[in-house]
Amino acid sequence: MFNKILIANRGEIAVRIIRACREMNIQTVAVYSDIDKEALHTQLADEAICIGPAPAKDSYLDIKRIISAAIVTGANAIHPGFGFLSENSKFAKVCEECNITFIGPTGDMMDRMGNKSKARETMIENNIPVVPGSEGALDGIEEAIELADSIGYPVIIKASAGGGGRGMRIAGSREELVNSYKTASAEAKSAFGDDTMYLEKYVTNPRHIEFQILADNYGNTVHLGERDCSMQRRHQKVLEESPSAAIDDELRKRMGKAAVKAAKAINYKNAGTVEFLLSDSGEFYFIEMNTRIQVEHPVTEMVTGIDLIKEQIRIADGEKLNYTQKDVKIKGHAIECRINAENPSKGFRPSPGDISFLHMPSGKDIRVDSAIYCGYKIPPTYDSMIAKLIVYDKDRKSAIKKLNSAIGEFIVEGIDTNIDFQYDLINNESFIKGNYTTSFIEKLMEK
Ligand code: ADP
Repeated sequence: MFNKILIANRGEIAVRIIRACREMNIQTVAVYSDIDKEALHTQLADEAICIGPAPAKDSYLDIKRIISAAIVTGANAIHPGFGFLSENSKFAKVCEECNITFIGPTGDMMDRMGNKSKARETMIENNIPVVPGSEGALDGIEEAIELADSIGYPVIIKASAGGGGRGMRIAGSREELVNSYKTASAEAKSAFGDDTMYLEKYVTNPRHIEFQILADNYGNTVHLGERDCSMQRRHQKVLEESPSAAIDDELRKRMGKAAVKAAKAINYKNAGTVEFLLSDSGEFYFIEMNTRIQVEHPVTEMVTGIDLIKEQIRIADGEKLNYTQKDVKIKGHAIECRINAENPSKGFRPSPGDISFLHMPSGKDIRVDSAIYCGYKIPPTYDSMIAKLIVYDKDRKSAIKKLNSAIGEFIVEGIDTNIDFQYDLINNESFIKGNYTTSFIEKLMEK
């Protein structure tokens, strides 16, 4: 087993990985930017190395500095977490060249799935249902118009290199499509340096259902059930739960099989997530595969009892999965709320600053993954997610009750948060009934 792992990340996920390493008797190296000197991950790791100034491109995205830190400290593996370099195939390849194990899939696997229009082509070749649309990338606006006219509006224009809900525009008509194409490709060019676009039929009121995959280096691939991530704002997830209230055992089996087939299509290894849209008529379509650990992984851990970070590390170390699909049992219900430093009444404007008082909920089956503490100063430079509140109980109804109690106890002073917004969501009648789609929040805000 690795004796030292460098964590190329910050915030709650870095802390989450440090904790898993500690339980596995693996030494940890944190990397941090100037502004993160007092951050929790910097303090909790066995060693910490400053890798540059606050802007991510000069620190958490700087491959040379991170590799140097690993070499200097003698780390023999790197866990990338999510965001930053986690889906950067060049980084994975450089790690390999430097004899440092990248805890994740190979760079080639990332390339095959990270390019979303290429991934679509791969799925089509393997008879996995995709949303009707372009086969792969579009040649230009003319092809987009021709295709949209034939499949019917509304359509969605998406960036092949896209992520985090960016580089995507919906078009309800030919006129809108011309504008959407321009704005989406410009956004893609500036955000990802690549304006390759593809087109899909816009599925109205779908559920976002994703399957957690684990695959070892010997071709053993299992899924750990689904997460319902339909609670979204601007195509970004706000709350996630497992299992989904919209899925029965039969559909779970079919979707799970398709997810495993998608991963096997590229001989995928390590942890990954296959994302689908589920239409109101019960049809499901592949939208993308994320080749890393995800923010919402804890809900899967709670219902399966499997520690995903430890599994990632074991797989990267060459261990075989010691269970098969039929051994994976989903039990009970888990819900996660993302707690962000932002102000919902001011257009969800980020709210960095000093935390003057903090009380986080706890109790049986109540988990908070976070890297904040009282007196901590949230920098304005990075993501606004400051904590994840996860609850587990025997069924959905009890989990919602527990979440209500727990979220009522969550107190953060000195900055604005979305805690009250989350409280309103989980007390909404449609949510309680399990009856919500990806447009739920948008419709709620219009009221
Ligand atoms: P990203 O990589 O930016 O997260 P995804 O392709 O995963 O982008 O899509 C993010 C979200 O956008 C989905 O969960 C869904 O809400 C919405 N979306 C994407 N494609 C479609 C589509 N064809 N029809 C309807 N909604 C879509």
